[in-house]
This record gives sequence, structure tokens and C-alpha cells, in this order.
Amino acid sequence: MSDKSYLALPFFDDAHRELEQRLDAWATASLKVDHSDTDAACRALVRQLGVAGWLRYCVPAAHGGALDTLDSRSLCLLRETLARHDGLADFAFAMQGLGSGAITLAGSDAMRERYLPRVARGEAIAAFALSEPDAGSDVAAMQCRAVRDGDHYVLDGVKTWISNGGIADFYCVFARTGEAPGARGISAFVVDADTPGLTIAERIDVMAPHPLATLRFENCRVPVAARLGEAGQGFKVAMMTLDIFRASVAAASLGFGRAALDEALARATVRPMFGGVLADLQLTQAAIGDMATAIDSAALLTYRAAWLRDVAGVRTTREAAMAKMVATENAQQVIDRAVQMFGGLGVKVGTRVESLYREIRSLRIYEGATEVQKLIIARETLAQHRA
Ligand SMILES: Cc1cc2nc3c(=O)[nH]c(=O)nc-3n(C[C@H](O)[C@H](O)[C@H](O)COP(=O)(O)OP(=O)(O)OC[C@H]3O[C@@H](n4cnc5c(N)ncnc54)[C@H](O)[C@@H]3O)c2cc1C
Repeated sequence: MSDKSYLALPFFDDAHRELEQRLDAWATASLKVDHSDTDAACRALVRQLGVAGWLRYCVPAAHGGALDTLDSRSLCLLRETLARHDGLADFAFAMQGLGSGAITLAGSDAMRERYLPRVARGEAIAAFALSEPDAGSDVAAMQCRAVRDGDHYVLDGVKTWISNGGIADFYCVFARTGEAPGARGISAFVVDADTPGLTIAERIDVMAPHPLATLRFENCRVPVAARLGEAGQGFKVAMMTLDIFRASVAAASLGFGRAALDEALARATVRPMFGGVLADLQLTQAAIGDMATAIDSAALLTYRAAWLRDVAGVRTTREAAMAKMVATENAQQVIDRAVQMFGGLGVKVGTRVESLYREIRSLRIYEGATEVQKLIIARETLAQHRA
């Protein structure tokens, strides 16, 4: 039984506690999707999460969502719980939120009504297309262009590392429209997957399989009405979207870390060794002490970031960056310790700790690598000091 004492923390309301209990029970009973075909598994998971109502937390109530506005604490609890059960289920959930977040934040009412209810029901798969081959951490260096041509924009360029690439029904795409140099000359668009001129250039295999692709735009025409927000505001829209979901990456890491600690405790308390069990040995106890503390410290940072955004209503750039950095790095360490405790079984393909070891790795890279988070925290801290 996983530690649930965190639910008693004052960051949460009773509605959050009830949400976690319902989801945990549902995940235990229902998350049994076969993962041998990643695309099929992902499609099935999106549909299943939609039918069960969990995706309603990814969009606002006015367009089929569960709550009036996106609630960071609910998103965190949903991702943490899903990740603890099944990494691909967490991925399917997270991408519906991240992939539609720009529409929620900046889309016209018509765009919201066209996409968000289907996202919430799991009938349309969403994707977020920001990164490019030469613009990852330095995202403002993007080169993909959208040139105005009457009542259309014409997109040309490449996006890569796009989660759900190849199975998405639509992509929120960020492209250079040239109102100003750098970050102030970018706009956001929704591009339907079947738009002529949009092709999948490459499917990318990663160590923890999920749908991922490089997209190519060649003379790809989208109506001006598909633009999200004002021209030149796309970078701001992307950062606002990431601000919401960054704390939820921390929460997913927590879920992976908790799963690893649960596995380690179960193993260490039964594995016979030196006349007792592995957990009797003080070096094992030291590892367990480190793992439990790493998880709790990451949890406190994560829930603080979510609470500040939901309740205090303040910008949480610094707090979300701290949560993302600490939770992903700590989870990696916790999982590595769990693999070590399992000995040979820890690296046997198919064991849970082996898959957790692969699953956690990319969370330290995407939505801002650890080094990027560190610089954000330093920038915000210095700015506070100077003010
Ligand atoms: C599994 C996965 C899923 C993804 N899904 C999406 C998606 O859905 N949509 C999307 O748009 N993108 C997605 N990405 C892309 C992701 O956001 C980028 O990989 C990430 O931003 C890093 O960019 P990059 O890979 O180009 O690495 P680079 O930008 O080349 O960075 C390489 C490394 O440099 C280091 N670094 C960065 N900045 C600094 C610094 N200032 N000082 C020192 N070192 C530094 C970091 O360690 C970083 O990992 C995904 C990536 C992965 C791996």
C-alpha cells in the first residue's frame, strides 16, 4: 500500500482527497491496457480516460471540463496517481492537457468549442509542437515560419520530438510570424492532422516507448481563425501553457518515485539475506531513509507550487521550476536505488523498476531540462533580490 499521508497536507481540499481516492480505485481496477503496440495503447488509454471522465480536468467547465478553470492541484494528483500505476496512462492524460492548453488559454470561443469538448471526451488526441532540431532549450531560436497570405497563414518548417506525433488529431504549433525579432515574433496555431502540407517526417523510438515524431510543414495553409491569440504573442502562450503543466511533470515524477519506493519496500522486506532479510541491513535502511526523504521533499515543493497557483493566484515560475528540477532529479535517484536493491532482477526487462528506470529519464530533459530550471530559479531569485 502506497504512502497516502501527503493527502492530509493543508495544500489540499476534501475534493482533492476524494478525487485521488476515486482515481486510485479506478486505476487499480481498470488500467489493464496491453502496451505491446504503443500507438494502439495510447489511443485506447485516451479513450478510456475520456469515457471515465478524467480528461475533463484538462479543460475548463465551459467547454466540457470538470472545473471552472484548470486546477493545478487536481492535475498534479491525477498525474501522480496515474504515473504510479502506469506511465503511458500518465502520458496520455498529460498530453491531452498540454496539447490543448494553448487553446484553453488563448483560443477564440469558436476554437475552444471546436476542440476542447472532444479533448475532454477522449475523442480528439492533442499535441504540442514547439521544439525544432535547432531550437530545444533555446526555443526562441525557432525557424518554422507562418507567412500571412490573405485570410490564411502558410506554414513551412520542421518540428521535432513531438509527443503524440503520428496519432494526434490536431497540433498546437508555434511558428515565426515576424512581428519582432526573437520571442516576440512568434504566433500559435491549431493545425489539424489531415491538413495538406503537414506530414510525419519520422517516427522516433525512445527508451520508454510513447508516440513521438518529427513533423514537416510544406506550404501548409491554415485559416487566420486558427491562430491562438494575437499575432506575435505565441511565445507568451507557450510559456503560460508550460507554467501550468511544469508542476504536473514534477507530480508525475513523484508518482514514478513512489512506485519505486513501494517496489523496493516490498522486495527488501522479503528477500532473504545473511540470515535475515535485505531490510534488516543498515545500509538498506539508510537507502530507504534517503528515498523516503527525497520523495517527501519533492512532494512539498510540488504541492506548494500547485497551491500557490490555485489559491494564492500568484505567478509560480520560480516555484514550479524548483518543483520540476527537484522532483525529477530525486525520482531518478530513488528509482536507481530501487534498481540496486533488486540486484539482477532490477535490470531484467519487464520488471517494474526496470521500466521506471527508463520512464523517468526523459522527464529531466523535456519541458525545460534541469539546467534550464536552475537558470530560471537563479534569474527569479536575483530579480527578487534586486527589487
Ligand atoms: C520524450 C520526449 C518528449 C518530448 N515531447 C515534446 C513535445 O510534445 N513537444 C515539444 O515541443 N517538445 C517535446 N520534447 C522536446 C524537449 O522539450 C526538448 O528535448 C528539450 O527542450 C531539450 O531540447 P533539445 O533536445 O534540443 O536539447 P538541447 O537544447 O540541445 O539541450 C541539450 C542539453 O543541454 C543542457 N543545457 C540546456 N541549457 C543549458 C544551459 N543554459 N547551460 C548548460 N547546459 C544547458 C541540458 O542538459 C540539455 O539537456 C520532448 C522531448 C523528449 C525527450
